[in-house]
Amino acid sequence: THRSKVTVIGSGNWGSVAAKLIASNTLRLSSFHDEVRMWVYEETLLSGEKLTDVINRTNENVKYLPGIKLGKNVVADPDLESAVKDSNMLVFVTPHQFMEGICKRLVGKIREDAEAISLVKGMEVKMEGPCMISSLISQQLGINCSVLMGANIANEIAVEKFSEATVGYRLNREVAERWVQLFYTHYFIVTAVQDVEGVELCGTLKNVVAIAAGFVDGLEMGNNTKAAIMRLGLREMKAFSKLLFPSVKDSTFFESCGVADLITTCLGGRNRKVAEAYARNGGKRSFDELEAEMLQGQKLQGVSTASEVYEVLSHRGWLELFPLFSTVHEISTGLLPPSAIVEYSEKLPRSF
Ligand code: NAD
Ligand code: 13P
Repeated sequence: THRSKVTVIGSGNWGSVAAKLIASNTLRLSSFHDEVRMWVYEETLLSGEKLTDVINRTNENVKYLPGIKLGKNVVADPDLESAVKDSNMLVFVTPHQFMEGICKRLVGKIREDAEAISLVKGMEVKMEGPCMISSLISQQLGINCSVLMGANIANEIAVEKFSEATVGYRLNREVAERWVQLFYTHYFIVTAVQDVEGVELCGTLKNVVAIAAGFVDGLEMGNNTKAAIMRLGLREMKAFSKLLFPSVKDSTFFESCGVADLITTCLGGRNRKVAEAYARNGGKRSFDELEAEMLQGQKLQGVSTASEVYEVLSHRGWLELFPLFSTVHEISTGLLPPSAIVEYSEKLPRSF
């Protein structure tokens, strides 16, 4: 048959919700195989059971998305190679720091006609410069890769509250339409735009702004200050994206992946939450320690992204152009106190 077969690579908080969304559609639509494979980074739970076994027995990811049924057609698989071998639609959704290792393990193991989509918010910095996760996937595996980003706090989508998302695609509109079909539901409205880099940079960079917003909350500076941080952050997001990729479109920043994701993450995200605790503690407890304590295995992307962005900025001599991005990094590494988050604005260039 010519039915598409889907594998979700990753099973954290968002990965599990993505599998649930997709599984509801593969059951409903005849163009997809019912079964959705979900690769699980195996771990042993406190009960002594393997996470994969518990997911397959209870149909719930009890560690990363407790209380939500994923759909009976979601099959958890701890073996990466076996999870991808029959699939022509690969959905990547892990914390970004694990993606390079995962791609290496997948070389030569995937179908030649496979298409990929990345839900991963983050980037890698290599000797040659920054590399977006979709490019990492494309380059390492020799396949086309679209992206899906948006104002999508996973726990809210898990209980089917209305939201929107943006698919970014490179060339082929039909490929984009197939991804939209796979994700679209009455409570998850997906729009496709031809701007992979713009969509992916929005999703990646807003995590840095969310750290700044969390500092503002921890310092109890109020709504106006937080709005100012969001506005300045959005400007840096746009300027940085366009310097790296002149093809990035202004209109992308008005899609769900842009301003909407920035707002929801600065109001209700994990990056915001942990950064608030960091500022409340006056920077005396590290992000790693707070992350482990507050997120129970879930991972922050904003602190490492700030460090990756900083590396690009210092390498290219752009630090003064991006005072918010660079200050977030300097605070989160302990070089500056959390209160520096508003003091940096004195350094803003006049034209800003
Ligand atoms: P998460 O934060 O829940 O991360 C935990 C996952 O990482 C678990 O599945 C764990 O098994 C896995 N893991 C731990 N160590 C690993 C290793 N060495 N190798 C591979 N996997 C390992 O993950 P998530 O929320 O699904 O986030 C994935 C991506 O989706 C991130 O880029 C995130 O920014 C993005 N995202 C998250 C949300 C959200 O609300 N959670 C929403 C939109 C986008
Ligand atoms: P956090 O990782 O900060 O929770 O952000 C989630 C997100 O990306 C919402 O779209």
